Amino acid sequence: AKQEKGNSVKVFDMNRQTEVMRSKPHLVHELKKAIVNKEFVVYFQPIVNAATGGIHYEALLRWFSSKLGPVPPDAFIMAAEESDFIQEIDLWVIEKVCEHVANSHEELRYVSINLSIKTFQSTELEKKLLAACSKHGIDPSFIELELTEHTLLEDEQLLIEKLGCLRKLGFKVAIDDFGMRHASFNYLRVLPVDKIKIDKAFVQNLKRNSKEHHIITSILTLAKKIGVRVTAEGVETVEQAKMLVDASCDELQGYLFGKPAPNEIVHKASKQAREQWSSLL
Ligand code: C2E
Ligand code: MG
Ligand code: MG
Ligand code: MG
Repeated sequence: AKQEKGNSVKVFDMNRQTEVMRSKPHLVHELKKAIVNKEFVVYFQPIVNAATGGIHYEALLRWFSSKLGPVPPDAFIMAAEESDFIQEIDLWVIEKVCEHVANSHEELRYVSINLSIKTFQSTELEKKLLAACSKHGIDPSFIELELTEHTLLEDEQLLIEKLGCLRKLGFKVAIDDFGMRHASFNYLRVLPVDKIKIDKAFVQNLKRNSKEHHIITSILTLAKKIGVRVTAEGVETVEQAKMLVDASCDELQGYLFGKPAPNEIVHKASKQAREQWSSLL
């Protein structure tokens, strides 16, 4: 039951879940018990360096609710952001990821963590990140922070300062779901970041000479000029991967290379992702 199946929402009891989902306060109420009840699990998805075949991982949260069954992030992250509880969740994920990096196979060395824009605005963030890193003996340069945005940014200046500060401490910073927000290009203009991740919507419709092809190659040209690395999300076919490699995309992520999975199988996942990458050459 813990296997990813495309976008389908797997539930034990669909009617009961739909009912609870309809009521956000109830969902948030359940969510707030999830940490204590140990219902959260961090999964990891491989990201391949297109030039070298090197692998790192993105941490993706999974909620196996005792009441609702497995609830996908798209169904609870937004509710968590609106309730501010997202900060507590993100900080829990940071601690858990560092614990896994310290105790898992060496393949799990460099990890990207999704943080809500709200978490970036929290005063605790640097302190918590540094504490987790030092507790588990991890160098901040092995942690990448992905800026995800499901609610509006309230204080742009604060975010600019925060990102600058985090980068000075050694953390890497990426803009997630690039291209899908009305503010994507403005973020690229004003925010100090190391990387952008092109949203899977562009990659999934990628065909030669399609609009998506022109948009992606333009983003890659632009990113190269301003010294920002690019990851393509949602790579599912060999054809898509080859087009991205031809266009000099820096990193590839998607079901073609591996689905999100528990930390125990990271060694096997790295091997499979690397084999898939080799077969592209
Ligand atoms: P994201 O950060 O853009 O993560 C990529 C999403 O695309 C993940 O969905 C992943 O499972 C999915 N994906 C990866 N490759 C493919 C592919 O080839 N095809 C398709 N169809 N999908 C693919 P997931 O895990 O359901 O997460 C959804 C979103 O929830 C994430 O999008 C992220 O914005 C948010 N999220 C997940 N974990 C956390 C977390 O710990 N904190 C915060 N703040 N947000 C999180
Ligand atoms: Mg992400
Ligand atoms: Mg994304
Ligand atoms: Mg997304």
